[in-house]
Amino acid sequence: MKRISTGGLMIVVVCAMSFALGGCVPSKPNTSRPQELTVGPAGTIAVSEMGRRLGLTVLKSSTHSATLSNGLNSVVFFADPGGVAYVNGRAVGEKGGLATVGRTLYIPESLERDIRLSLRTRPKYIPPVKRRIPVKRSPPSAKKPRLKYGPVVIDPGHGGKDPGAGHNGCREKDIVLDVAILTTDILKASGVDVRLTRSDDTFIELNDRAALAQATRAKLFVSLHCDAARNRQARGFTIYAPENRMSQTSSLASAMEKSMLTTNTTSRGVRAAGYRVLLRTTCPAILLEMGYLSNRYDARLLSSKSHQRAVAHAVANAVTAYLTK
Ligand SMILES: [Zn+2]
Repeated sequence: MKRISTGGLMIVVVCAMSFALGGCVPSKPNTSRPQELTVGPAGTIAVSEMGRRLGLTVLKSSTHSATLSNGLNSVVFFADPGGVAYVNGRAVGEKGGLATVGRTLYIPESLERDIRLSLRTRPKYIPPVKRRIPVKRSPPSAKKPRLKYGPVVIDPGHGGKDPGAGHNGCREKDIVLDVAILTTDILKASGVDVRLTRSDDTFIELNDRAALAQATRAKLFVSLHCDAARNRQARGFTIYAPENRMSQTSSLASAMEKSMLTTNTTSRGVRAAGYRVLLRTTCPAILLEMGYLSNRYDARLLSSKSHQRAVAHAVANAVTAYLTK
């Protein structure tokens, strides 16, 4: 009798507590996160978590493959051989690193960025984001601004919920923003009209970044990023040009490479790429990976203010050299 009444009391207490927290009906576990009780190898996340981050639904998942979709994109992971990810039929990111623990497929976290860059989004008109359009400080009749060149769009990658690469205590979204702001100041002082896709820690969709270039009829688009690789020895800067407009961009890319070499870092060359911000712009556009945060030397360099200033000068010099040629 005593036991029963104690149990009854417990039920009342638990019910009262859950009622206070939003009702006596047991809240359902989040169905978008299936029950992965196992833990994958370091640097990997469960396929369902990858899907959640990318806004994709896991359609099929087994110990050796998984298919995810959001209706517009299909992402497939194969654990064998070595591990590979496909976005809409195209292999993306570095191969290898996929692992199966228990019945769950684990995906290298680093693939999230590559996959995100390759995802298609529904085309829509996106008006330029107001807070990033510089305010006109003088009426038209007053002294004309001395901005003779441009406009140029400088695009610090990632931001907000998307930190980009993170290694050696550095976050990509912070470094690229610092360099972008320094670059903007230098360019403005040289009479270049500059628009930043973000001037603070805000998440901006890739299409919105390209849309700003289109809406402002930009002459140039420069996206700033930091690299990361599983090979910790990889270092140096890389310049990516749109794979469908290599010839249009070649003089800008080579001006940028020449200028970046003055920062005492090594060049990994100019490469063609299908990054969305490059493909969706129509003006000459490049994406500069300033160095590898996964490499200790590069990470230290990129987090130093003096190197950030040197890179900002290099980028600004390349842009002005291109605009005034
Ligand atoms: Zn990046």
